[in-house]
Amino acid sequence: MKRVLVTGGAGFVGSHLCDRLIKEGNHVICLDNLFTGRKTNIEHLLSEPNFEFVEHDIVEPFEADVDQIYNLACPASPPFYQEDMVATAKICFLGALNMLELAKKNNARILQASTSEVYGDPEMHPQKESYRGCVNPVGIRSCYDEGKRVAETLFFSYHLQRDVDIRIIRIFNTYGPRMNPDDGRVVSNFIVEALKGEDITIYGDGSQTRSFCYVDDLVEGIYRMMENDDFCGPVNLGNPGEFTMIELAEKVLKLTDSKSKLIHCPLPGDDPTKRRPDISLAKEKLGWQPEIKLDEGLVKTIEYFRSVI
Ligand code: NAD
Ligand code: UDP
Repeated sequence: MKRVLVTGGAGFVGSHLCDRLIKEGNHVICLDNLFTGRKTNIEHLLSEPNFEFVEHDIVEPFEADVDQIYNLACPASPPFYQEDMVATAKICFLGALNMLELAKKNNARILQASTSEVYGDPEMHPQKESYRGCVNPVGIRSCYDEGKRVAETLFFSYHLQRDVDIRIIRIFNTYGPRMNPDDGRVVSNFIVEALKGEDITIYGDGSQTRSFCYVDDLVEGIYRMMENDDFCGPVNLGNPGEFTMIELAEKVLKLTDSKSKLIHCPLPGDDPTKRRPDISLAKEKLGWQPEIKLDEGLVKTIEYFRSVI
């Protein structure tokens, strides 16, 4: 039985990953400071003998005996990671540093949850892992975007010079059950607004695009990346289906049978105009590709939000 640490394990993606790791027969230590995560996401796991929850901030060092570390701790929604930009930059850098030190001490494999944000507002479309990005180092998204970039650098530095066994995944917009209704990201915002009969808030003209991956598909990719023995990444994990925010809003209205109206709000600074992963590398190295289409994933997500709001 492996001892697996999941930082950010009470969050949206982390809690689904904990489910999977328990199902695979591991001992899981879920570490989280509950900043954007919630105990309700892992409530069903608390009675499992092989599941431990530890409330801790990864900016502070952490000691444990572990075989694998999944480093997911970091607020992912723009309103939350912008709430305290210095704290976000510290989580990205010091959090990664602390977890890499822990991996080194334990001779453990460590996976970093990086992001499509490392490509910034991309000039290459779709984005391949070899593209180096177009990121503003001094904008409102920089604490997160540059934080995640420097975390990748730190991971590679530990790999190249300190012999740490690393894995890096670049996650593209992922959605599904257990997103916080107040999270602020587009899928949860649109669904909650539609279900409450409130106006759907389109930022800007709504022509910007994103590619949305259902959480079960992402977790499969994350797990395969950790378990593969000969490829450390970085690798894109996302669904190549690309939609404008207007198209997303129209789908949500249809699937919720809502009479909400679309309204336009100011576009936040540095909001990327387009985003779509090239997943050839994930297909080749991991035999992975998403299975769940946007409409199907939205139906499951809407069902979840109906039950919690
Ligand atoms: P989330 O906000 O639901 O989860 C993040 C978790 O980290 C939360 O449980 C939060 O409480 C915890 N956390 C934050 N700061 C912490 C700290 N200092 N110490 C300990 N725990 C801390 O977000 P998510 O969507 O589940 O994202 C998980 C990871 O995946 C993040 O690293 C994020 O950057 C990355 N990611 C997610 C997406 C996506 O679309 N969901 C896209 C790209 C990258
Ligand atoms: N967005 C929107 N309305 C909302 C929330 C977000 O139109 O209520 C837009 C946002 O401006 C961006 C896209 O949806 O263009 C995706 O935003 P999100 O915060 O989900 O993810 P990210 O911008 O980090 O990809």
